[in-house]
Amino acid sequence: MRAALIREIGQPFQVEDITIAAPTGREVLVDVRASGLCHSDITVARNGMGIGLPAVLGHEIAGVVAAVGPDVAHIKVGDHVVAAALQPCGHCQACLRGNLNACSNPGSLDRAPDAEPRLESGTAPVVQMQGLGGFAEQALIHENQLVAINPHMPFEQASIIGCAVATGAGSIFNAAKVTPGQSVAIIGCGGVGLNAIQAAALAGATTIIAVDIQADKLELAETFGATATVNSGTEDAAARVLELTSGAGVDHAFVMIGVPAVAETAMASLGFGGTTYLVGGMRPGATLDVHPSPADSSLLSKQQGVRGIWLGSSNFYADIPMYVDLYLQGKLNLDDLISQRIDLDDINEAYEALERGGIARSVITFPASS
Ligand SMILES: [Zn+2]
Ligand SMILES: [Zn+2]
Repeated sequence: MRAALIREIGQPFQVEDITIAAPTGREVLVDVRASGLCHSDITVARNGMGIGLPAVLGHEIAGVVAAVGPDVAHIKVGDHVVAAALQPCGHCQACLRGNLNACSNPGSLDRAPDAEPRLESGTAPVVQMQGLGGFAEQALIHENQLVAINPHMPFEQASIIGCAVATGAGSIFNAAKVTPGQSVAIIGCGGVGLNAIQAAALAGATTIIAVDIQADKLELAETFGATATVNSGTEDAAARVLELTSGAGVDHAFVMIGVPAVAETAMASLGFGGTTYLVGGMRPGATLDVHPSPADSSLLSKQQGVRGIWLGSSNFYADIPMYVDLYLQGKLNLDDLISQRIDLDDINEAYEALERGGIARSVITFPASS
């Protein structure tokens, strides 16, 4: 089957023919029908982040189950599935509480090191990032990482639920638990930010301030439910957020771009009891400048908080079907998040476009095999 490989950090993806094993145990062979291009994949391809090579990246996957291993219990051939970029063992205390990203048995869903690899190029093993490897015609995935969805859900829109929607909307619903009448600022209006904006609107937030440096993203933010927009390239974003809230500041500020200065803007935008949420990945060694002294009229006296969120604090077994329902009921706009549909061979050009900014999401589509 064809797959886009990273053979060297900092080099483009190479589309090659590689071998995928038959499913054993609780593995599921998925015919990938749509695969979203998330920004974090290109961050890994450019910087490594400790991944072994060669590797198949891609973690926003929707497809059809082609075959299942003998011990698979919950997924069957023909199911439409969405994959999740978490590898929960399913039986530790964290998993049983639904805190899937805190699973205490990392790696337990991978094949044993002495087993035949799931993916091979010639006779050399190929790393399957996060147990997924979505930039390929097929993916061999443990059933704990898959959720069967309503077959009426289109594959392209389904694929981006796995990361962009789960991260953006999950930050609002699961982590911040935004309630009607609250105020939020969303800094960074790419795929994740737009999902946070529409989730905040669904949750009943009445002040939704979108912040970005690109005018076209801010325009899109308005169509997703932003009640005000701030161009941080041309104005002091924190001062403008305070102005828009009559000096009160927001209840929740979400940092979708992993840059410390952006997080500091978020902290300066908060009102009494407000919280800054760090959502976008930060570079190793990144630090934040926090002003805790009551003398500075900040964190302590205003009883504010800063917290991290990983993948929208998602319990994807419950969340993915919910997002599918919200889409099918017309309450979640995923259509306008997909800016272009591409072939696997166009992956490098599409990532270059993503890095230039201005587009929400490209999705690789694969035709049905039969
Ligand atoms: Zn676990
Ligand atoms: Zn992602």
